[in-house]
Amino acid sequence: MQPLNTIVIVGGGTAGWMTATALSTALRGRYKIRLVESDEIGIVGVGEATIPMIQRFNHVAGIDEVEFMKATNGTFKLGVEFVNWGKNGDRYMHGFGRLGQDLWMVGFEQYFHKMRALGKARDLADYSIMRSASRANKFMHPRTDLPNSPLAEITYAYHFDASLYARHLRKLSEGRGVERIEGKITQVSQRPSDGHVDAVVLESGRRIEGELFIDCSGFRGLLIEQTLQTGFEDWTHWLPCDRAMAVPCESVPVWTPYTRATAHKSGWQWRIPLQNRIGNGHVYCSQYISDDEATAVLLSNLDGRPLADPRPIRFKTGMRKKSWNKNVIAIGLASGFLEPIESTSIHMVQAAVSMVLDFFPDQGFSQKDIDAFNALSRFQYERIRDFIILHYKLNQRDDAAFWQACAAMDIPGTLREKMDLFRTHGRIQRYNNELFTEVAWMQVFTGQNLYPESYHPLVDVQSEGGIEEYMGSVAHVVEQCVNVMPDHAEYVKQYCPS
Ligand code: FAD
Repeated sequence: MQPLNTIVIVGGGTAGWMTATALSTALRGRYKIRLVESDEIGIVGVGEATIPMIQRFNHVAGIDEVEFMKATNGTFKLGVEFVNWGKNGDRYMHGFGRLGQDLWMVGFEQYFHKMRALGKARDLADYSIMRSASRANKFMHPRTDLPNSPLAEITYAYHFDASLYARHLRKLSEGRGVERIEGKITQVSQRPSDGHVDAVVLESGRRIEGELFIDCSGFRGLLIEQTLQTGFEDWTHWLPCDRAMAVPCESVPVWTPYTRATAHKSGWQWRIPLQNRIGNGHVYCSQYISDDEATAVLLSNLDGRPLADPRPIRFKTGMRKKSWNKNVIAIGLASGFLEPIESTSIHMVQAAVSMVLDFFPDQGFSQKDIDAFNALSRFQYERIRDFIILHYKLNQRDDAAFWQACAAMDIPGTLREKMDLFRTHGRIQRYNNELFTEVAWMQVFTGQNLYPESYHPLVDVQSEGGIEEYMGSVAHVVEQCVNVMPDHAEYVKQYCPS
């Protein structure tokens, strides 16, 4: 077993610097880590909404939350509000964390299905502290000193400025020994014996050698695709949006503790509130709308004055056939992209870095390890893909050709099974700890008007009156908790004063 000496990370966007931060923390100076990036090429610079697992990344990487929030103009996020997704005019929230409180052997959502069918349930948001707090624009950290209260279960993520996050991570990584090399890679050198990459060569002629190369070069996939020609599995027939127009605008006094995703005629628009501005972007399908029209839609749906010219971004949804090929591991956009509707890309970076540590190679590069890594990576991509496709498939919009085509499209068998299973008794099967929970799926199903025909038979073990009382008490406790929570904007200003 010959250990590696040098790890070369190609690219300094969110993926590159997250990888550098995590590896420099975990490897404790035992390996040389070099990161090559080009200021001239720049980074994609979007990716401002996250999901709660990022807290774990920041914690393990030793990132102080207050410093991080200050450095990135961060705000807190409790979920995503979807507007116009089921039918035009519909509005629902995918809130993080739990819903209600399970009763005996059955999940809370099953009691909800029964009582809703009887016309005795309230709005789903009334049973979730994340959803209710979002509605009231409130936030606070979980009160772990109150273990029986919903306040202990506040589950949150962040909104932040992606470029500032990369800069913050760079500072931390460099402090932990990562060597940053500025320059444009113009050539990639491969070992004749087995095609492993052995160096990247800069425009200046400088050669940077290593044994493990992590490709964080973004959509271009400099090593994984341009050099190794690994291949890309195209998912545009399921996730047809292929462009985005992004623009920041002036902030407003209310900082919503959630991302908003508003469906338009040929795509949807994100709204991500930061401390100093709001990030906006129109994700659309170029088959149905021109860039000029998409820009006009974006600009006519802003809260304040735009702070820059709209910036176009092109992408193709899908995944690299293998994330790990020879001695190259692709992380971030180089490994695939599922479009940003559920803010999963940064999480995928984090998950990939964690797998790199689990399967950390020596110079032998075991093919069995590589195969296992790729199988796991594929599982994660496919399960998240299904969840995202659901948002498109499950619409009843009769006002736009784009949405009608999405409603009519064929879907992967794995998603079809999930929908069929839910349709009968509201059951949701979560395999191998896949990312999105039963509660997440249930919120999208019901938010987009798919309710089960029946419910779990064991719900009837409880009397109807008992269930009604129990659900009423859950809603009452949630309401009381939200009443004591502070305003989100005020909380952020006190927590990390500028
Ligand atoms: P990039 O940021 O593109 O970085 C690539 C790096 O490679 C750069 O440093 C570049 O200089 C370097 N490079 C490339 N070629 C060379 C070369 N020849 N020589 C030297 N250096 C080179 N994710 C979320 O989690 N939440 C979101 O809300 C979200 N929104 C998104 C919205 C859109 C429209 C898009 C397209 C993506 C979104 N994402 C989101 C995804 C997120 O932006 C990315 O996952 C994240 O920014 C990581 O990007 P990256 O580091 O892989 O690539």
